[in-house]
Amino acid sequence: MYFSESFIEKIRERFRLSEIISRKVKLSRKGNEYLGLCPFHSEKTPSFTVNDEKNFYHCFGCGAHGDVIKFIGDTSNLNFVEVITSLAEEAGFSIEYNKSQLEYHNYTKDLYQALQLACNYFQNQLFSTVGKEAYSYLQHRNINTTYIKKFLLGYAPGESYKLKEFLLSQGISNELMIKAGLMVHGSNNDIYSRFRNRLIFPISDYKGRIIGFGGRALSNEVMPKYLNSSETDVFKKSEILYGLNFAKEASNKSGKIIVVEGYMDCISMNIAGIEEVVASLGTAINKEHILNLWKYSKVPVICLDGDRAGRQAMLRVAENIMPILKPGYSVDFVLLTMGKDPDELIKNYGKDAMLRSLESTITLSDFIWQESIRELSSALIPEQRALLEKHLENIVNKIRDNTVAHYYRQYFKNKLWEYFKKSKIKQVDINQEQINRIKLNTVQDISSIQLLQQLLVAITVKYPEILSNDQAKEEFISMDFGDEKLDKLRTLILNSKELNIIDSTILHSYLEKNTYNDEMNFLYGHYKTISYIVNGFNTCIDMWNYNIKKYHIALLEQEYQDVLRCMTESSVSIASALKAQIIYAKKHLNKMEQSLQHNDY
Ligand SMILES: [Zn+2]
Repeated sequence: MYFSESFIEKIRERFRLSEIISRKVKLSRKGNEYLGLCPFHSEKTPSFTVNDEKNFYHCFGCGAHGDVIKFIGDTSNLNFVEVITSLAEEAGFSIEYNKSQLEYHNYTKDLYQALQLACNYFQNQLFSTVGKEAYSYLQHRNINTTYIKKFLLGYAPGESYKLKEFLLSQGISNELMIKAGLMVHGSNNDIYSRFRNRLIFPISDYKGRIIGFGGRALSNEVMPKYLNSSETDVFKKSEILYGLNFAKEASNKSGKIIVVEGYMDCISMNIAGIEEVVASLGTAINKEHILNLWKYSKVPVICLDGDRAGRQAMLRVAENIMPILKPGYSVDFVLLTMGKDPDELIKNYGKDAMLRSLESTITLSDFIWQESIRELSSALIPEQRALLEKHLENIVNKIRDNTVAHYYRQYFKNKLWEYFKKSKIKQVDINQEQINRIKLNTVQDISSIQLLQQLLVAITVKYPEILSNDQAKEEFISMDFGDEKLDKLRTLILNSKELNIIDSTILHSYLEKNTYNDEMNFLYGHYKTISYIVNGFNTCIDMWNYNIKKYHIALLEQEYQDVLRCMTESSVSIASALKAQIIYAKKHLNKMEQSLQHNDY
């Protein structure tokens, strides 16, 4: 679908931006602008501005910026084409199709119509005498008329030409029946029904338009058990989320969405009162699915079999989504152990058992960790440990978002540390000679590390240009702050960079505006001491590099102490390796100190 630039401009001009935005955000007038609480990040004092004259909104807190089309796209589940279409509708503009678009538009309209007619036909059959067996099967599965109607369930009779005759009588051509995936070619060039003697599950898109069907065999001898429509211009198997048209309302309310495998799982959960459910219909959950699910929930829950095959399917999902992970967005997993699938679980153990299972979610990072150590036989063999580390590193390397990758790396590092600490066999006796050999006088503790972190943050506030240096920025992003205040300031400082704030005084007042008083107190003490000229550095980057070096040494010394604290067989070698690193880094630091200009002020 293509819209001309002039048509889009016409739409932009037709609406007063503040009027559209005030449907979702409470705005108050301030000068020639409007001000409100930003819908894209959480805040207590408004920093979200709307300018009707310039026709854009801008948030000084998170940098969100755009026009009416972007606003509606970002605050609804609509894609670009749908935003334009709905705005055009509201404005009373008719969509301008060009010739080939018009042909395609009419063609898909005909497809949808044929599919809807077939759906009606299947439904009628279910309630007629030919549908008796299918109907009693549904009753046996505890699906009553309310849910049969909600999910538009139907029955395709065994007779090969009935549907074709019906559709012909409604003016649907043979060609269109084939294109809709309803018929297959027989011998003698004739066509006949794809679905015969099957229970029919109509599959809709998120708007509720029928796009295809799934047919379940009524006897266990017939293969395949489930038969789906073939791929058509409107039915793309890899994109389908069955039940989304029913789930979206509940999902928008609760902010949750659950993915199960099959039609029956989805329907059973609905009957059990869990409405925010979609089914992937047996296809592996891919990137497109996840991007689609993220419109409804930032952390969709994937609920599959807890057996080996199910876990491997989840592992594939995990690997698929690594490249698209972004801050705040992920997936959770539920591994069902009591029954094979949600349908069986509910049938055998009841609704409450299902609800309890849904409460025991496991995060993506935990799931990857657990699966990674599952098959590890002996954790103390260096080759095994190396293999595990390599494996985790490969997974993290797939993450494209730097911040998310950083925290994953850190998470696995901590996990590895805990894991190998626990798996040590016993405290070993290390003789005094060995201890002496690795002894190093260190006084590093948490507070001195924190002090250095504070100093480094203060330096970036005083000299924001430091963050234009890629390496310095990378170091700044990957510092592991134990203190929430520092973490918050770092986020704000990085934001300010996006907002092009490069002046220290402006940056400082920007930070003041977005923090509580006491959160920045520590900065003032540092400010006095951090002039790079007074300290004898040539540039502020030199000062940054010097203090980063000190910081890294402090971290190494802390790690060194941790290793010594819990002596294991490998401690001696780890500690002496750390010792070598520390000595090397200190030499480097000394050199830096010697090159300082000793200016007397
Ligand atoms: Zn914002």
